[in-house]
Amino acid sequence: MPNDKEQNKEQESQVEKSVIALREEKILDFWNKEKIFEQSIEKPAGKENPEEFTFYDGPPFATGTPHYGHLLQSFVKDAIPRYKTMRGYKVKRQWGWDCHGLPIENIVEKELGISGRDDIQKIGIKKFNDTCRDKIFEYVDVWEQIVPRIGRWADMENAYKTMDKDFMESEWWAFKQLFDKGLIYESHRIMHICPRCETTLSQSEVTEGYKDIKDLSVTAKFELIDELGTFVLAWTTTPWTLPGNVALAVGADIDYATVELADSESDNIIKYIVAKKRIEDVFGDSEYNIVSEYKGTELVGKAYKPLFDYYANDKSLENRENGWKVYATDFISDEDGTGIAHEAPAFGAEDMELAKEVSLPFVQHVDMSGHFKPEVTDFAGLNVKPKGDNKDDHMATDIEIIKWLAHNDKLFAKQKIEHSYPHCWRCATPLLNYATGSWFVAVEKMKSDLLKYAEDINWTPNHIKKGRWGKWLEGARDWSISRSRFWANTIPIWRCSECDNQEVFGSIAELKERSGVEVADLHKDIVDEIHFDCKTCKDGEGKMSRIPDVLDTWFNSGSVPFAALHYPFENKEEFNKRMPVDFIAEAQDQCRTWFYYQHVLVGGVFNTHAFSNVITTGFMMAEDGKKMSKSLNNYPDPMYMIDKYGADAMRIYVLSSQVVKADNLDFAEKGVMEVARKLFGRLVNVYEFYELYKDSVEHKDSSNSKHVLDVWIINRLRKLHNEVTEAMENYELDKATRGFDEFVDDLSTWYVRRSRDRYKGDDEADKKAALETTRFVLRKFAKLLAPFAPFHAEWLWERTRREGDTESVHLTNWCSLHEVDESVLSEMADVRALISKALDARKESGFNVRQPLASVTLRHREFSQELKDVIADELNVRDVYFEPEMDAEVGLDTELTDELIEEGKLRDILRTMQKARKEAGLKAGEYTGAKIAASSEEQEIIKKFETDITKQTFINNFDFTEGDFVVEILK
Ligand SMILES: [Zn+2]
Ligand SMILES: [Zn+2]
Repeated sequence: MPNDKEQNKEQESQVEKSVIALREEKILDFWNKEKIFEQSIEKPAGKENPEEFTFYDGPPFATGTPHYGHLLQSFVKDAIPRYKTMRGYKVKRQWGWDCHGLPIENIVEKELGISGRDDIQKIGIKKFNDTCRDKIFEYVDVWEQIVPRIGRWADMENAYKTMDKDFMESEWWAFKQLFDKGLIYESHRIMHICPRCETTLSQSEVTEGYKDIKDLSVTAKFELIDELGTFVLAWTTTPWTLPGNVALAVGADIDYATVELADSESDNIIKYIVAKKRIEDVFGDSEYNIVSEYKGTELVGKAYKPLFDYYANDKSLENRENGWKVYATDFISDEDGTGIAHEAPAFGAEDMELAKEVSLPFVQHVDMSGHFKPEVTDFAGLNVKPKGDNKDDHMATDIEIIKWLAHNDKLFAKQKIEHSYPHCWRCATPLLNYATGSWFVAVEKMKSDLLKYAEDINWTPNHIKKGRWGKWLEGARDWSISRSRFWANTIPIWRCSECDNQEVFGSIAELKERSGVEVADLHKDIVDEIHFDCKTCKDGEGKMSRIPDVLDTWFNSGSVPFAALHYPFENKEEFNKRMPVDFIAEAQDQCRTWFYYQHVLVGGVFNTHAFSNVITTGFMMAEDGKKMSKSLNNYPDPMYMIDKYGADAMRIYVLSSQVVKADNLDFAEKGVMEVARKLFGRLVNVYEFYELYKDSVEHKDSSNSKHVLDVWIINRLRKLHNEVTEAMENYELDKATRGFDEFVDDLSTWYVRRSRDRYKGDDEADKKAALETTRFVLRKFAKLLAPFAPFHAEWLWERTRREGDTESVHLTNWCSLHEVDESVLSEMADVRALISKALDARKESGFNVRQPLASVTLRHREFSQELKDVIADELNVRDVYFEPEMDAEVGLDTELTDELIEEGKLRDILRTMQKARKEAGLKAGEYTGAKIAASSEEQEIIKKFETDITKQTFINNFDFTEGDFVVEILK
């Protein structure tokens, strides 16, 4: 099977690159050749000593190719820095790579044909880690091709890597800082583990993996030793924990009852104990008899027969005398089950609490890989929650337990349930609650400070601050940072084999000073080889060795703010300038992860917030609203889209959508196509129209014209400019980009169309004014477009810039704000609305728009002569009158004179000729002759207006024959 990479290449070669794509590629070459990106960092907007606007990147993995989520982030992370660069800031953009953790470990396990911790240890950690080192950058070349191609400027050459010695050393330093502040501690507690990956998971990782699944619950019978024939009923949704049972728990104040029931098989009367409230649910329609009622306290201390004897008979078991009895605790409710809980302290947080409180025996009948231990003889080696190919495979072992209970008369009932159950985010194995030792960052201890620091963060959209992010931060729990894995940064703690001595190292130098060994790498396969003598053992017997755990990879990415700079070992000044960083961006799920872990680490180490402004995006979904999925093939390949529509069209489509405000976007090819056609297609048309006439009169670019259309489009541009600027200052990319389409529409279908005769006309001064204004608008619009559609902005800039302008639009400065004359805009809006109504009336009158009419009267106050001319032109009428008090909105004078009829015919003739030219594929401005069939009347008209016709159609030679009007272009 071809891998992803080959598939991508195959697809790429299948798409023929569009004009738009080729245009972008040429610009990319220009940027590379002229080092525009580098120049823009050195001298943004031409500034000699620029202030910094700071930004850093959340690191992606290079173990796969970029997907739409990465593209989306890239568009956001490119637009803001480009804008800030134009505002005169120096914006460094160091790329980063995430290198550690389960994604790459799982790939390597597959690659080496092994599975699980034992296998890894068998082949050796060195070999395993070396393979990770080899594999981690498998797709880097694809990234290095796609990222620049989408117009993202980033310094990929000097990317930080979370596996670099320097990066990892900064983490060691931060770890020690936190440790010394008492913010890191070790604890044994119930954690969620993935039995396949054999590691603990953090709160956010667990939260990510909840899925609704079917399961089996059982109600088991626990016979009281002193009252044989009486059974306590306890209910559990995890039958596999029953062999680990060491106690039962009731609520002290809950009402319980003893209920008599005839056994269906033997007809013997059997007594059951359940919560009173649960009787109906437990016994249903059976004929039962309530014998007695009492509070839970009455049950406390009663001993029962263990369901299984694997541990109960083990005389060496600590606290054995306290086991297999009934206890009261306050976490019991009589709202579900039987109101009595089965206690397996190694597999539940509350169970563990009770166990500590009353000194229950500690029984862990399942190992870390999720298998029953050998002493559980009936089930030894079975996987307790297997992940199989079928969706119900996870119940297989529970079914075995239930069969055994039934066979041994210890099963009261079983039931199918559906519940939300956590799975490994990486390998989809059902997680287990498991008692294990772990290292923690004491988040709860610093929470009030973290909440305080968070007040200084500006979120886009704003609701994230108090919502998704704020709530997560408020509910944050201590962060488990140790993992029993291999390819990750190491926890820098060495411990004595003989005594309690423990030493923490915050740098390579510190470790060298103590051990005499200078390491060039801080991975497990290297530093685990370093041992030295304990200082505190009385007889000097003890040897110091590193604790085996490695760090949660979120400790890596959370350390980016300082570790990417190798702080504090290097770049102190730069770090101080950068913190807190001005801007970062990621998808909203990072509120629980990257945003959060940065905030915790920077808050804990530096007592401040890590970042000041965040853009939180939603997710890119497939057009059908489902997750984008390779196997469903429900989305187009990104490179296919770029080759077809260009990167700019994708950028504007995405940036102007709700996805930049934490909402999801159902990605539709049609949407990108529309941007390409409407925005860029029309923009290019406008430019090309300007280009046709630009050499007809010498002109610069200017906004000084007093012509009503010129004044209007300049104000229109200023208004857009002000809106874009305000939105960008607020980090609102959708607002910033949404106005482009309407502006280009106004420019194309109103300004340029209405100015067409001015470009073509004989009035040199007016022609110059129109060309100067058009050029001014295009040049300024190139700048406005630059942060968002960098290629088309550059394309337009190259064609409209002044002598002395910078060679790239991305080296220019953002324009300052100009006052907008709103009255100009509202007056034109009124005019256009009136015209639209008058055109409707004209259509109703039955005259086509090419037939000039004598006059129109509009219900409105008087407009200026210039606007009257605009109206007359657009409506093709000789005169425009205004009558504010008139009944109808529009009055048309439809009486035709000979002169009007003749002009109407002329317009028809012109139209047919232009159409013929177009169909013949002639270029604008190219002169040609034509064979014309026409009536004698039409021939007369053509001869009469020959000069005008030639000027407008570039047809300068007429070869007449008699007949119905047909134009045949002579090439
Ligand atoms: Zn897993
Ligand atoms: Zn010692």
